[in-house]
Amino acid sequence: MTIAIVGAGLGGLALARVLHVNGMEAVVYERESSRDARGQGGMLDIHSGQRALREAGLIDEFSAIARGEGQDMRLLEPDGTLLLQEDTPDDAPLERPEVDRADLRNLLLDSLPEGAVHWGRAFESADNGLLRFADGSTAPYDLLVGADGAQSRVRALLTDARPAHIGQNVVEIGIPDIDRTHPVLAAMIGRGNYWVLGNGVSLAAQRNGDGRVRIGLSFYNTAEDWFATSGIPFDDPAAARARLIDLLPGWDPRFTALIAACDDTVVPRSITTLPVGLTWPSTPGVTLLGDAAHLMPPVGEGANMALLDGALLGLALAAHPHDFPAAVREYEREMFERTSAAARMSANVQELLTSPDAAQKMLAFFQPG
Ligand SMILES: Cc1cc2nc3c(=O)[nH]c(=O)nc-3n(C[C@H](O)[C@H](O)[C@H](O)COP(=O)(O)OP(=O)(O)OC[C@H]3O[C@@H](n4cnc5c(N)ncnc54)[C@H](O)[C@@H]3O)c2cc1C
Repeated sequence: MTIAIVGAGLGGLALARVLHVNGMEAVVYERESSRDARGQGGMLDIHSGQRALREAGLIDEFSAIARGEGQDMRLLEPDGTLLLQEDTPDDAPLERPEVDRADLRNLLLDSLPEGAVHWGRAFESADNGLLRFADGSTAPYDLLVGADGAQSRVRALLTDARPAHIGQNVVEIGIPDIDRTHPVLAAMIGRGNYWVLGNGVSLAAQRNGDGRVRIGLSFYNTAEDWFATSGIPFDDPAAARARLIDLLPGWDPRFTALIAACDDTVVPRSITTLPVGLTWPSTPGVTLLGDAAHLMPPVGEGANMALLDGALLGLALAAHPHDFPAAVREYEREMFERTSAAARMSANVQELLTSPDAAQKMLAFFQPG
């Protein structure tokens, strides 16, 4: 019985690893040509997903690459008012440590048998037990798992649902090697998350393991075509930074100094999600996990849910090695319930972030009562 996993992201790799530790093998097909073919993004905070790493037998290795101090948090208003500062004691438990997405993906990749991941295989379609790839090649499967992320192609085999824009447009910028290049700004950001929440705009700065500070400027309640109308010249990074500063009238000069200090990486990202509570009738031979199944607003649940999906599907298959349809039904029942709750919670946090008094609302969220 061949298990084919499309997508070597966190969810697909967690599934392959949990199957492997339970004596079952799978083949992972990944569109990218190698593990380093493109940048692997920034930091992820891993909380509930730690259970998946335990099931994968990798929790000690995870603790070694996790950054406990990444849990530090500062919350400010655009006029510079500091509302909340939380510094993580050295001996604090690793409840929500930050980990570099590339490090976590490498940990999972290195834990699989040689050749488990087939690189450069972009899935196009599946029928009658045969996968078809963009390069014209084919491969057989008994169970197809779509772990192919937000723009999943496998999803169409199960549902007509498509991700829809949620009125958030993000511009990603960053400061390389901040301790050396901008020590004053480095001290201001601190070791973890630095959030400035204003009326319809947020600045989220976060220190990465390699000393780079990644900054996401989110513009809420904006249309899907906002990047075209925003006046941000993405092909001219210096002018783009100047335009971003113009878009923040009245913001404390320390925050605009952060933008001025960024390098020439300026990346637009439109935020889309799948409907909260999306399900589909269980179908023998195919299922989904991770963002392919339940793309949520980017408020800290997506990677955790993807890891858990992968691990729990792996355990269900190991419990029913001769009855994949039963394993898939069992997995989907639990997954739909767990991820619907996470998607509802994420949508609520997203609503707080888009409100006119977002900073006060988030303060109340972090310090209830
Ligand atoms: C390059 C990258 C950088 C990211 N950076 C961040 C970040 O900085 N912060 C954050 O919070 N989240 C980030 N994410 C998203 C986050 O990792 C996911 O939301 C979460 O881990 C869900 O994991 P997943 O396994 O469902 O999907 P993903 O981690 O998105 O993995 C999906 C995988 O499927 C592959 N794939 C897609 N289509 C096909 C196809 N047709 N055939 C074969 N393979 C295919 C993709 O190349 C990818 O490797 C990033 C995702 C990616 C892919």
